[in-house]
Amino acid sequence: MTARILDGNALAATVRGRLAERAAALTARGVQPCLAVILVGQDPASAVYVRNKVRGCEAAGMRSLKFDYPADVAQQAVFERIAALNADPAVHGILVQLPLPPQFDADRVLEAVAPEKDVDGFHAENVGALMQGHPRFVPCTPAGVMEMLKSENVPLAGAEAVIVGRSNIVGKPMAMLLLAQSCTVTVCHSRTRDLTGHCRRADILVAAVGKAKMITGDRIKPGATVIDVGINRDASGKLCGDVDFESAKEVAGLITPVPGGVGPMTITMLLANTLVSAERALALAGGRR
Ligand code: NDP
Repeated sequence: MTARILDGNALAATVRGRLAERAAALTARGVQPCLAVILVGQDPASAVYVRNKVRGCEAAGMRSLKFDYPADVAQQAVFERIAALNADPAVHGILVQLPLPPQFDADRVLEAVAPEKDVDGFHAENVGALMQGHPRFVPCTPAGVMEMLKSENVPLAGAEAVIVGRSNIVGKPMAMLLLAQSCTVTVCHSRTRDLTGHCRRADILVAAVGKAKMITGDRIKPGATVIDVGINRDASGKLCGDVDFESAKEVAGLITPVPGGVGPMTITMLLANTLVSAERALALAGGRR
């Protein structure tokens, strides 16, 4: 069997087209959706992610503000910036690019963002809301994965879903979203016994580990949907996922590539969250500006 490939670039382009229409409608009513991005330090990967987010905003007709700080900036300066952005009614989304330098208390920084502008969905209040089944903002990567599953009408209710990875950013919210759709969810991690056994039961397998090509075809149930969140470099320096695409595509029914799979959908969902935040702000203002 050769799997169908779930093209994240194509889906992202379709969704972003719809978002751009909604952004234009809002802008015409005097509210241009605006995302503020804070970047601390010179991590090259973070700089690329931030640049792509800013470009994504511009292409969708949204405003973006970018605040760069050197790695040795005082944490207080970042708190003051967040407080100013929280208070600014023209800003609808605030994102602090992770990872932060080691002297930062990342949890405190994320908690400083107003929950109603926390478009990454990392604030404890938003994590709790997701857990309770009435999310305000869903973290962008798992939200993007759900859009991908929806776009392909992948059956979810009753499906065995196995997630490899339990981070706060991907694995845990992914589990909550699949559970909310009535999947039977298993979350694996570095201490899991018999990872292969779990993976081979999965109708839907989500790999979010950060280890190049660790999910090989022999760990996949024939016909399964395989979602590869990982972004790694292989031995030759080429971008690759956590899934060994070549062997996996011979077994899976549907598979996401890396690059061009989950990545483009992550930024798309950030734009969607920012847009929704702006729409809520307008609704709260009674539709008047
Ligand atoms: P983390 O490092 O925070 O989490 C990795 C998880 O993998 C941990 O739960 C860890 O277990 C688990 N793990 C590590 N080794 C093994 C193993 N041998 N077997 C089973 N589980 C293992 O990573 P993130 O969740 O932040 O990111 C995961 C990957 O996804 C990375 O490659 C990252 O770059 C990528 N990513 C991609 C995004 C996109 O837009 N496409 C967005 C965000 C992330 P334990 O908890 O026990 O340590």
